[in-house]
Amino acid sequence: ITILGIESSCDDTSAAVIQNGYLLSNIIASQKVHEAYGGVVPELASRAHQQNIVPVVDQAIRQAGINRDEISAVAFTRGPGLLGSLLVGTSFAKGFSLSAGIPMIDINHLQGHVLAHFIKEKEVEFHAPRFPHLCLLVSGGNSQIILVKDHLEMEVIGQTIDDAAGEAFDKCAKVMGMPYPGGPYIDRLAKEGNPLAYQFAKPRIKNLDYSFSGLKTSFLYFLRDQLQENENFIEENKADLCASLQKTIIDILMNKLVKAAKQTGIREITVAGGVSANSGLQNALRAESEKRHWNLFIPKFAFTMDNAAMIAITGYYKFLKGEFIGQDAVPFARMNINE
Ligand code: ATP
Ligand code: FE
Repeated sequence: ITILGIESSCDDTSAAVIQNGYLLSNIIASQKVHEAYGGVVPELASRAHQQNIVPVVDQAIRQAGINRDEISAVAFTRGPGLLGSLLVGTSFAKGFSLSAGIPMIDINHLQGHVLAHFIKEKEVEFHAPRFPHLCLLVSGGNSQIILVKDHLEMEVIGQTIDDAAGEAFDKCAKVMGMPYPGGPYIDRLAKEGNPLAYQFAKPRIKNLDYSFSGLKTSFLYFLRDQLQENENFIEENKADLCASLQKTIIDILMNKLVKAAKQTGIREITVAGGVSANSGLQNALRAESEKRHWNLFIPKFAFTMDNAAMIAITGYYKFLKGEFIGQDAVPFARMNINE
């Protein structure tokens, strides 16, 4: 079974080939146009997808070393994401499926992030997380704790009621004058700072839900007050600010994850999404795993951010269950993980 995966939900155009669960290629074209705007500009994103998609797919097939007629099905991200961006991938998948005479498989981007842990690579030792496990999905648009019962059976047991963790990183980075997305810049600077230098507001929510908008406001007001005293405050204290902010975000994330693990009695833990690349979060996860005897799974870097390998592997599992979709498929900007 050979699956061609297509991902175009946000600002990365990606294509990948997975054969019998093994990754043969994973090409990602990141869009640089958005950096100057401090965020993703939807109109520019869909235009860049249109330019990238054909060469990216060609390269994925070439690098996989397969013939086009070996492809069993084309899997594409149906949502959630930017509608204009999703339309490019969806339309491409329809054309490819028609011309090759192969079925199409619609993929939920969030399920893709969760199933990134099931991508096998040749000559790389592989251990799959067992079921049920808990996945901390932390990305630009989502912060959720997911109870993963099977490859395609998931239940959200906690989620953010406002901003996502990645959004908190990016918005606070923007306030400090960093380019978009600011998460990786904060991660880098945080390594040189004191995480206990400053304290910011943490939410008081009793269930497993998250909230990050209070932290963002607290960070903003703190900086505003400090800047009145010293206009160079940010420049002079950037590393400490980054370290303290990052620690607060990690504390919030870990607190609910520990709670979820205790409540469910599950010690098989995975992390997914762009923010799972954060070195501080990875360290916190490792420390907690040591302490609580968790079996922890951290994705390799290329599988943390948006990529088509995770779409293709999800397509592989849907193929095995015969879950296909017709030419009338339409993308959805908003979708929850079970749709
Ligand atoms: P979603 O998957 O919810 O639709 P998305 O696809 O836009 O959202 P991802 O690509 O998974 O999100 O992740 C992007 C986010 O990850 C950005 O907010 C970015 O700042 C954040 N990020 C990436 N690397 C790091 C890092 N090292 N530390 C903190 N945040 C990071
Ligand atoms: Fe994503």
